[in-house]
Amino acid sequence: MTGFVNSDGGNSGRGARPVIVQKYGGSSLADAGLIHNAAKRICARKDDGTDVIAVVSAMGESTDELIALSQAVTGDSAPDPRELDTLLSTGELVSSTLMAMTLKARGYDAISLSGGQAGIRTDAVHGSARIADIKTDRLRRELDKGRIVIVAGFQGLADSGDITTLGRGASDTTAVALAVAMQADRCEIYTDVDGIYTTDPQLTDRARKLAEIGFLEMLEMAVLGAKMNPRSIELGYVYNMPIYVASSFSNEPGTLIHGGEHTMEVRKAVTGIAVDSNVGKITVRGVKDRPGIAAGLLQPLADAGISIDVILQNTSSDGTTDFTFTVAQVDVDRAAEIARNQTNVEFEEVVAGSDLAKVSIVGTGMENAPGYAARMFSTLAGVGVNIDMITTSEIRITTIIARDQVQNAVRALHDAFELEKTE
Ligand code: ASP
Ligand code: MG
Repeated sequence: MTGFVNSDGGNSGRGARPVIVQKYGGSSLADAGLIHNAAKRICARKDDGTDVIAVVSAMGESTDELIALSQAVTGDSAPDPRELDTLLSTGELVSSTLMAMTLKARGYDAISLSGGQAGIRTDAVHGSARIADIKTDRLRRELDKGRIVIVAGFQGLADSGDITTLGRGASDTTAVALAVAMQADRCEIYTDVDGIYTTDPQLTDRARKLAEIGFLEMLEMAVLGAKMNPRSIELGYVYNMPIYVASSFSNEPGTLIHGGEHTMEVRKAVTGIAVDSNVGKITVRGVKDRPGIAAGLLQPLADAGISIDVILQNTSSDGTTDFTFTVAQVDVDRAAEIARNQTNVEFEEVVAGSDLAKVSIVGTGMENAPGYAARMFSTLAGVGVNIDMITTSEIRITTIIARDQVQNAVRALHDAFELEKTE
């Protein structure tokens, strides 16, 4: 995903007027009234003298409905990927055309463009295409005519001329990629949540909306459960495109995801607590220790498309070792079955464990600063939470605990690291 900046040979540089790319999610466009609500926000930005490109998702749950329809006609056989992509692309065509009509009805000049018409070129991997290139000349031309440009999210065009889709939830990716290609000031994502919180507000009423968060922190939070398409954050990080996430239903300030120093808030070591409550664990006991056991155990799982998360191997004492790894809860039975049936590695038994959760503290301020792990573990011990597994990265400390202890753990950690305070 490196090819698309200035892909039209210099024509795409920042013009005289600032450009903003906004994105509206499906729940923010679920009916005519909501489309008008989003249109009002788009018009207000246009009235500021800003060039606006708005990327839209399919209305409400319509992508799910189209998938269900495709399954209804194909029964047990999988729908043809090319046909499915063209079908799914229609969801965003509905919302983009309706948005352009809405804007015109409100007295603004607007045009809708499909992904292909907007110059979004992708590889040919149907269902999860990657953006290869964005030709911005059409977008530029339409903006220069004074138009608001509405782009159908989640789709592009392969060199074959066929329509591709970028993967579920990928309208965010479309928006950030367009913002980069157009050298926009920032990308604004309007959705049904009003920003990024220190942790899941359903777990503690002390969760606080963050005014800002770093890309890397957000990536950890997103991958670990905070709902946001990680690919769009990655793109923002790589191209340093600030992403503002806010509610389309209110005018409350949202959260700015960015790559600079934290400026609006005094920088705290721990920014948030990420939670993933759907963790299963496989332990392979009594593995004969020799070079290649990790690869031997994990390759068959990779071949089956099961992603492994936390991995733990004990040092062996009597020539055997225990090898433990976590997978998504839904994959636990399949993973255990594969581990039992693999013939690469000799072992005594495979034990599957469920009902686990992953709780992580995340923050760039922890980098190289000692003491955070100890504080996390003693906090958990203080409220009687047993830690099953531990893993760390430079900006994250992760524990695997029992799922029914999640709320207890999150509340204690939120208090211990004073996340309800801004400084
Ligand atoms: N409509 C697509 C989906 O539901 C893309 C998106 O919403 O971002 O996955
Ligand atoms: Mg959607």
